[in-house]
Amino acid sequence: MKILVVDDLDTFRNIIAQSLAKLGHEAITAKNGNEAIELFKKVHPDLIILDVVMKGMNGFECAKQLRILVPDDWIPIIFLSGAVSDSDIEQGINAGGDDYLAKPFSEITLAAKIKAMERIASMRLKLIETTRNLSVLSSTDTLTGVYNRLQFDRIIKEKISSASRHRTIFAVLFIDLDKFKAVNDIFGHPTGDLLLQEAAKRLTFCLRKHDFVARMGGDEFAVILSELETPDIAGNIAKKILHVFSSPFRLEENILHISASIGIACYPLAGTDQASLIQNADIAMYQAKSKGRNNYQYHTEDHNKKFKEKIVLEDALKFALEKKELFILYQPILNLKTKKMVGAEALLRWKNEILGIVSPDVFIPIAEESGLINAIGKWVLKTICQQATKWHKKDSDFKLSLNVSSIQLIDNDFLPFLMNVMEETKTPASLLELELTETSIMTNPVSVETVLKKIHELGISISIDDFGTGYSSLSLLQRLPCSTLKIDKSFITGIATNKNIIINSVITLGNSLGLRVIAEGIETQEQLQFLRDKGCELGQGYFLSKPLTAEIINDLILNKKLISTTTVS
Ligand code: C2E
Ligand code: CA
Ligand code: CA
Repeated sequence: MKILVVDDLDTFRNIIAQSLAKLGHEAITAKNGNEAIELFKKVHPDLIILDVVMKGMNGFECAKQLRILVPDDWIPIIFLSGAVSDSDIEQGINAGGDDYLAKPFSEITLAAKIKAMERIASMRLKLIETTRNLSVLSSTDTLTGVYNRLQFDRIIKEKISSASRHRTIFAVLFIDLDKFKAVNDIFGHPTGDLLLQEAAKRLTFCLRKHDFVARMGGDEFAVILSELETPDIAGNIAKKILHVFSSPFRLEENILHISASIGIACYPLAGTDQASLIQNADIAMYQAKSKGRNNYQYHTEDHNKKFKEKIVLEDALKFALEKKELFILYQPILNLKTKKMVGAEALLRWKNEILGIVSPDVFIPIAEESGLINAIGKWVLKTICQQATKWHKKDSDFKLSLNVSSIQLIDNDFLPFLMNVMEETKTPASLLELELTETSIMTNPVSVETVLKKIHELGISISIDDFGTGYSSLSLLQRLPCSTLKIDKSFITGIATNKNIIINSVITLGNSLGLRVIAEGIETQEQLQFLRDKGCELGQGYFLSKPLTAEIINDLILNKKLISTTTVS
């Protein structure tokens, strides 16, 4: 230890210095308070032994001044004095001393006092280190090393107060990795963790020195872009992030293509308090997702309106089953040559007392996002199986198609439920067809494929809906056990334009692979004629029949399944 000894008596000073040297310490000596203060600044001692009674500045005064020099540090001070009274001790402690040594003292007492101080000093250092570690731990995300949500909340508060004082703007970005859940499901959590670590690295790379990135939980990150000259800069950085994310992620032996959706909320435009900035960045991020992912969106008032509407719908949808607000219409599927009704597609309807009729295009995505689709889908499945069995008795091969989303398929409960219901309702598997869109299969290819294979083994047929609108139609056909292609209605609407080539090739492809081809959305005689001429076997559309209630379908089946376009609405 480096020990500063302050005593105006030369003999005492020297004796102490000698004792200290013997004890293995380095002694530095000063003969008065002023000299002690000067030396202290230069040598930074570990301990000070300070005589109380000195000429000029006394020990108490000297201790006070030394303490002021290093307000954040603690250097133990042991006072030296002749007769020590209680009031001396009190005064000494108040002046910043830590212990007292009465003259004369033995070398052993001196050694013991120093040892005690040494112990306290080392405990203090440990405490400082632990506190520092704790504060790092409590402010960073252990998986990725970026800040955590707690620290993000602190930083955003600071940013708000500094931006309001200096009238500057800053941006909050919410970044969500698209299809992260699929990565976890398919490749497992360790790969998911690696992906998050790499994503955090790439995000940090995109930011400037005074920006911040935090992991808010799951696959959601937030960024604070400090002091922006204009809100546009936030968009530029979002573009940079999307660009950096566009190169493949190499994680051990896997190469993954991941994109991100980014929502931007700028202070003060999109909110002046923490809660509204965070909420609005989140809403904007959802907008980016719904615009097809891999893009960024600034928060706007319009987003807020849409978001509120969505919350209202979601709240009402939670009770739709219980309140029996859901029902199913059946759109006939016809043989285009004979006009014979060979089956129907089940289309879900929701009628709410306040919201009126809500389109499935609106509520199905909300049901998927909130997970309500699983309960709703089970209800649809059960209703369809009951219906299919009833119609089977009247028409042995009347087939019912139902739409299923990939979220339902990857639910572990889906297959057992399907098998159970079919057994309960005695539905022959050949009466059922599941319709899945290409995009929904692609969202979760591996798990969906496995389930589809099992469904096929049960004897249920599989149809690819909206065929031609996805990106991987052909490769899907090779891999999946599908038996039907539904040509998307956008192609049928485009008949008599250049889309004919696509229709032609889908029909040829389907026919040559031995698949059933159903044209959707036939609205005119010309379209019907065209499809028939091209050899498209089956069709569906308002020109043939709008979706009908079960009762009307029932009548049609009894009346030998012939639909005349004039008899149906
Ligand atoms: P989709 O599977 O492509 O269903 C065909 C949609 O086209 C239906 O709309 C149908 O009413 C409509 N449509 C039929 N013929 C014509 C026509 O000639 N012209 C035009 N313009 N449209 C026609 P809908 O019933 O509104 O359903 C929309 C989507 O909602 C469906 O598209 C399907 O993806 C989804 N959906 C419906 N019911 C269910 C369900 O039970 N479960 C799931 N997961 N999704 C469903
Ligand atoms: Ca469909
Ligand atoms: Ca369709």
